[in-house]
Amino acid sequence: MKERLESLKAEALEQLKNVADAVQLNDLRVKYLGKKGALTEILRGMGSLSAEERPVIGQVGNVVRAAIEEVIERKQQHFQEKETELKLASEKVDVTLPGRPLRQGGVHPLNKVIQEIEDIFIGLGYRIAEGPEVETDYYNFEALNLPKNHPARDMQDSFYITEDILMRTQTSPVQVRTMEAMKGEVPVKVICPGKVYRRDDDDATHSFQFNQIEGLVIGKGIRMSDLKGTLLQFTREMFGSNTQIRLRPSFFPFTEPSAEVDVTCVKCGGSGCRMCKQTGWLEILGCGMVHPRVLEMGGYDPEEYTGFAFGMGVERIAILKYGIDDIRHFYSNDLRFLQQFARY
Ligand SMILES: [Zn+2]
Repeated sequence: MKERLESLKAEALEQLKNVADAVQLNDLRVKYLGKKGALTEILRGMGSLSAEERPVIGQVGNVVRAAIEEVIERKQQHFQEKETELKLASEKVDVTLPGRPLRQGGVHPLNKVIQEIEDIFIGLGYRIAEGPEVETDYYNFEALNLPKNHPARDMQDSFYITEDILMRTQTSPVQVRTMEAMKGEVPVKVICPGKVYRRDDDDATHSFQFNQIEGLVIGKGIRMSDLKGTLLQFTREMFGSNTQIRLRPSFFPFTEPSAEVDVTCVKCGGSGCRMCKQTGWLEILGCGMVHPRVLEMGGYDPEEYTGFAFGMGVERIAILKYGIDDIRHFYSNDLRFLQQFARY
């Protein structure tokens, strides 16, 4: 029996020498040391031994088991280390490789200008009002003192959807909606940014869709000088503290008196250049005192309240501010153009 144990040990150790991986190792463990393994099989025959032989063989059995276990344990450790090494090698990161650049977006130049204008007026105590882009004829024209067949309607070529519904040609309907919502309360102090639509052929300076921002103030004792002071403050924050403005008489159906506002040329500062056609001035917006008819239709007594309104094209402001030569750049989504503004 002792010989059988010794030969089992030799056989097991020999096989363990050539074991290739952890799976094979486990198979051998079961084969030799398992509950139904070879060693257990031999030791089961101890019952037929004499009382003197039993402890001797038992001890030999233990030595054999310990020897096999020791080798298995060593091998196991070896396989584990190898596995860890492989894992580390496969997860190795080359920190010297150059990084992948993150593509970063930017705010569209028109949105930048809109945000900037909004910030200036919010700083002056205005709130922002918005309205639908598909409007009724009433809000877009009639409530703004432009009854049907009024000749001034020809100033704006409109996209009509039905006889009474159109794409708004200006953001002024938001002013009417604001007056209605305020139900005669003062002060009204809003700016209305948004897209407007006109039947224009697209070229370097025209687009069938563009952005406007209008402002409306209504209260007691609001005067033309308040309008002028507001616009001077706005243009100085927008174009620089040396900016001057001038008001030229004009006509709009919804304001009386009305004026066009020019700022000193953003390029030459007023001395005259190609951009301002040597005049030193650039036209940037229209304005006036709210027409009494418009106040009345909005629910305000023109005997008691006065107000002013102004409106500007966002594209025009952006063109002047950034020196852009073609309005179509804003809508073409050309990254070479847009990326120039991503860092501003
Ligand atoms: Zn100039």
